[in-house]
Amino acid sequence: MDHVESGEHRTPLEQRLAGLRGGAPQRSLDARALAALAANPGCRRRAVLDAAGVDKTALAARLGSPAPFGQSPFAIARGLRFEKRVKSEGYGELLELLRRHLSLAPPYGRDDDCPVRIAELVADPRLPAQRVASTRAALARATESPGVWTLLDHPLLRLEVAGSPVLLEPDLVVVQPDGRWTVVEIKSFPILDGSADPAKVGAAARQAAVYVLALRATAAEMSGEKPSDDPYDPYARPTGLAGAAADTVLLVCPRDFSNRAAAALLDVRKPMAVTRRQLDRLTRVEQLLDALPEGASFDLAASGADSGGAVGSLAAAYSPDCLAACELAFHCRDEARCAGSVEVLGRGVRGELGSLDTVAAALAAASGTNGTGEANAANGRDGAGTGSGNAGGAGEEAAARLAYAAALRAEALSPALAAAAGGRG
Ligand code: SF4
Repeated sequence: MDHVESGEHRTPLEQRLAGLRGGAPQRSLDARALAALAANPGCRRRAVLDAAGVDKTALAARLGSPAPFGQSPFAIARGLRFEKRVKSEGYGELLELLRRHLSLAPPYGRDDDCPVRIAELVADPRLPAQRVASTRAALARATESPGVWTLLDHPLLRLEVAGSPVLLEPDLVVVQPDGRWTVVEIKSFPILDGSADPAKVGAAARQAAVYVLALRATAAEMSGEKPSDDPYDPYARPTGLAGAAADTVLLVCPRDFSNRAAAALLDVRKPMAVTRRQLDRLTRVEQLLDALPEGASFDLAASGADSGGAVGSLAAAYSPDCLAACELAFHCRDEARCAGSVEVLGRGVRGELGSLDTVAAALAAASGTNGTGEANAANGRDGAGTGSGNAGGAGEEAAARLAYAAALRAEALSPALAAAAGGRG
């Protein structure tokens, strides 16, 4: 998470997190990473490392498990080029798209000729606190003077996650003449004949949802209100200034591989509700830090630091999904494999197996070598074992189903095995 040095007084938590990171530069958390963190709220390891701003790519390499992860440099360069082009010539092409796709409440019509203003924002990356403040001031100014299109190019927003502030930087936020605030997400994947790769659009929607949450949190803080919406109802719209932040975002992409841009509105209410619920489930960072042993350090610049020991002291929640979402995936996968953990088989299998948390335990239950073979198979046959009256509950139920499946498999294979044996004889 981005506790970027602001040159201001650091809280004790920020000091502790900076101490863990040591002399290494801080890594900031973008909306993509925050969406990935929200997708695995049970992983304490990632939560602490992200909070401390540790470079997980470098840490994975230090632990001997570098993972090819993240966007290719070519894709990043292509994206930056496209964004620069769309914003060139006084944002002309972008404004055309904004006017075409964003409807305005009366008295502003579709053919509005409202003036355009580019907000003056602090852009120096070394001054995050000033950047946040200038974003707020620009939003306040634009809201107080309707009838103008105000563009905030790379504003900086703050969102509190697990008790710790995270800084987020959307590509653009526009304040419409009618006072509505809309997030604009610029991506380099193409919109072909009006449609785009659903996986890429989904990922863009999850990122944009994080920005809208941050925008609403900013609005609520600016107006001194607490958002009154139900965070888990995707269709609830907050009242007050927070309601100004639209729950649709404008996705801008290249049109049909051409140099021209196309745009589409995305409804991000569902990803917002999911992300909010997951972020609320994150344990507060202070509590997670208590699990670290005395002297733990993730200082990648210090040659003697036992980063592996510190990482190992934080509980992970590995699943194969991590391979597409986290730099430490190879390390955590190796760890889970060494422990014989069923997590490597995926969340679905993990959930089905109940308290059978190792592959060895699951195989033993299937073969009956855990001492309950016949009874398990009978339980499975009688309705997958209700587990009634058993202290084992879900674990016994899973064992019964495994044993039953193993018995069925053996039964199905036995004629073939007998035939094969006969043929050999
Ligand atoms: S790879 Fe490891 S640290 Fe990253 S989210 Fe998965 S379990 Fe957590």
